[in-house]
Amino acid sequence: MDAIQEKLNRLPGALLPWYRENRRVLPWREQVSAYRTWVSEIMLQQTRVAAVIPYFQRFMAAYPSVEALAACDEGQLMKLWEGLGYYSRARNLRRAAQIVAEQYGGAFPRTYEELTALPGIGDYTAGAILSIAFGVPAPAVDGNVLRVFARLDNNSADITKPAAKREFTARVLEEMPKERPGPYNEALMELGALVCLPNGAPKCEVCPLAAQCKGRAAGRAEQLPVKTAKPGKTLVPVTAALITGPQGVLLQRRPSKGLLAGLWQPLAFEGTAMTQPELDAALRAIGLCVQWQAPLQSTRHVFTHRIWQISGFCGTAAGPAPEGCVWASRAELNGEYAVPSAFAGIMRQWQPE
Ligand code: SF4
Repeated sequence: MDAIQEKLNRLPGALLPWYRENRRVLPWREQVSAYRTWVSEIMLQQTRVAAVIPYFQRFMAAYPSVEALAACDEGQLMKLWEGLGYYSRARNLRRAAQIVAEQYGGAFPRTYEELTALPGIGDYTAGAILSIAFGVPAPAVDGNVLRVFARLDNNSADITKPAAKREFTARVLEEMPKERPGPYNEALMELGALVCLPNGAPKCEVCPLAAQCKGRAAGRAEQLPVKTAKPGKTLVPVTAALITGPQGVLLQRRPSKGLLAGLWQPLAFEGTAMTQPELDAALRAIGLCVQWQAPLQSTRHVFTHRIWQISGFCGTAAGPAPEGCVWASRAELNGEYAVPSAFAGIMRQWQPE
């Protein structure tokens, strides 16, 4: 076997040229820094690339440096994050930025231990920052990479188990060209995102690793990776009251801990589907006397472990906002108060006066 063929038969020899040709142009790849890699990787958790791009650009315009993020107003940050979901990611970004600014003089630490000690940074994100921004040969193993290696090695280990993750991480490191860890990690993720697709749909015919893929050779690529099914989601009824008045719409702040902490919503009661009289009684108890108009169109929102089935009623009221609530004008709602996308379908039913 000649030297060129031997090189192509090794994983990086086939993967890196493919990556150079096929990589997507993405804003965090145009100009690389630890800050930009970190923010993009946190945004990309649980969120598609196309949805992240405009958020990333707005985020960098608003907070171009770790110091700017450290000093930002949390309410404004939540507003900027509105619609991206998993808001604890944004809070952790801000807290971690404050630590980097105060304890590290604004320069990101360069060790795995220091990075994973920062809020919201786990193994994967630390590996991505170290390899992509600093050229440190660290693995960055996400679901894409686990899937690619399970298929490449025809390995039936359950990728939800820590032992399997350790095994695949060792394989990622074994194949890693130590002089090019960043492009190698990014290429693996890109292959998983564009070619070695999930849900039994790998595009083996255009894959640069097809010749060395044991899963494909065994005809098992579509059955891999093996993954224990997640437990089912619980359906939770939520009753919302969309109350409007001369001062705008009535918003209620969510508790400072737990799901969607600190965000704003129409008045809502979780875990119960209330009739209009029940809702009326609950609101009278907090001093609100509502002229009811019509039922709201019900909506659904899917979280990781639960589904909210939101129904309720709209009505009008006047007078001071109850404790923990504010009247918000349309301009304030658009510019100031972060409302989670779970309630976007309800808020859209606020008709112009
Ligand atoms: Fe995935 Fe198919 Fe490529 Fe194997 S040949 S890595 S299964 S796309």
